Amino acid sequence: MSDRIFQRIPSVNELLESPALKGLVERVSHHVVVGEVRSFLDNLRHEIRARAGELQVPHAGELAERIAQWIAREERPLLRPVINATGIILHTGLGRAPLARTAVDALVSVASNYCTLEVDAESGERTQRLACVERLLTELSGSEAALVVNNCAAATVLALAALATGRDVIVSRGELIEIGGSYRLPDVMAASGARLREVGTTNRTRVADYRQACGDETAALLKVHSSNYRIVGFCESASLADLVALGHQRQLPVLHDVGSGAFLNLARFGMADEPQVRVSIQTGADLVLCSGDKLLGGPQCGIVVGRRRLIQPLLQHPLMRAFRVDKLTLAALHATLGLLRSPERAEQEIPILSLISTSLENLRHRAERLAPQLAACDAVSEAQATPGEAHLGGGSTPEMPLPTWCIALAPAQMRLDQFARRLRIGSPAVFGRVQHDRIWLDLRTVFPRQDTELVRAVKQLSEVADTGESDPDDGPEERP
Ligand SMILES: *Cc1c(COP(=O)(O)O)cnc(C)c1O
Repeated sequence: MSDRIFQRIPSVNELLESPALKGLVERVSHHVVVGEVRSFLDNLRHEIRARAGELQVPHAGELAERIAQWIAREERPLLRPVINATGIILHTGLGRAPLARTAVDALVSVASNYCTLEVDAESGERTQRLACVERLLTELSGSEAALVVNNCAAATVLALAALATGRDVIVSRGELIEIGGSYRLPDVMAASGARLREVGTTNRTRVADYRQACGDETAALLKVHSSNYRIVGFCESASLADLVALGHQRQLPVLHDVGSGAFLNLARFGMADEPQVRVSIQTGADLVLCSGDKLLGGPQCGIVVGRRRLIQPLLQHPLMRAFRVDKLTLAALHATLGLLRSPERAEQEIPILSLISTSLENLRHRAERLAPQLAACDAVSEAQATPGEAHLGGGSTPEMPLPTWCIALAPAQMRLDQFARRLRIGSPAVFGRVQHDRIWLDLRTVFPRQDTELVRAVKQLSEVADTGESDPDDGPEERP
């Protein structure tokens, strides 16, 4: 390959003289822009070498324009709001549960101010920072005591470290779960210092298996909700009630990791399998552990409710300090729990619950209204309202899809993956799913207030298509 093509690449100094980059130097910094220009040119030389001959080197002005766009894109804030049209309600990659308006207001009001985090305004004395949420958690779950840490994984480590270090915790082989984000129960247990004592087999574990494993070294019985999978067919597991009876007999605490933490009965929305925290306490579990940002619909946190004599050692353990939550989490959690005191208000105002409880008729209506508007966009050749299946996601209920309505789009000029990528990087950004040669926009996870934005996002695609921005094929794909 001739070196002439490389000679046609302008120098860094020449590029820096062009208006597009001059502006950026003033706004960002000379140092950063020079570094970015060099790295862009390196990539360009690399690409030329790889695609010898096919490529033209753009002239300096155009090249500078492209570099400026590239730098601007790299500079965008990392966390941007997106419209979730994937149909996965608790999408971990998209941040799980969005907060209720009142939770956001509560969070904002303490964010920029000092607040009564650990002082009692009345007496001026120091108080416990969890006191404000403990009252609501015990009321809603029917338990004696409660605490909050950074997430459910931390709650598990804390409970096991405080109650079972160096001793056995009995768990069924059918419940040794792995959830996304490298949470593997056996590893979490090892980190806590407790010894995992597996019983039963993958598909069948009886209460007799637990009983046989109980001995001098046993510290607790642990039941884990198999959030993201089901064992079907020839299978059996010990019920919580059976384990509670055994625990009482042997004076062993029974811990129940319910995962998604439903505080309301969601059976009428097709989620009969999700254990309710209150029911688990009623059945006699000594400690119940769950996440705050799954079905509770609050901020990321981990919740432990149960007997005061077992919560006490957790509060006093040094890890409690390491896993402690901040004022923002507590403010948002307190407001969310306040909404849960009234199931009707919770369904209307907690976003996760309002998405789950939206009627199919409502979704169909919106899909049929939006389809023609989307079909009229230049970037779209066909848009059809179509029934489909949404999912709870976030490590919960794998086999119980929620009925939904979607709009299935066929792009006019772009390939499907280009279309999906443009939607993701657009403004507003939209995440859909690619299925059967169409982009599916699932309305189960789109808030009604976002409907017009959704149309705007698709309308903009044809405009974005002409900016000459490079369109690498290796844009990251969404992962449910
Ligand atoms: C989701 C889940 C966890 C982990 O919760 P995080 O809050 O993400 O740490 C633990 N156990 C079960 C059963 C879960 O479903």
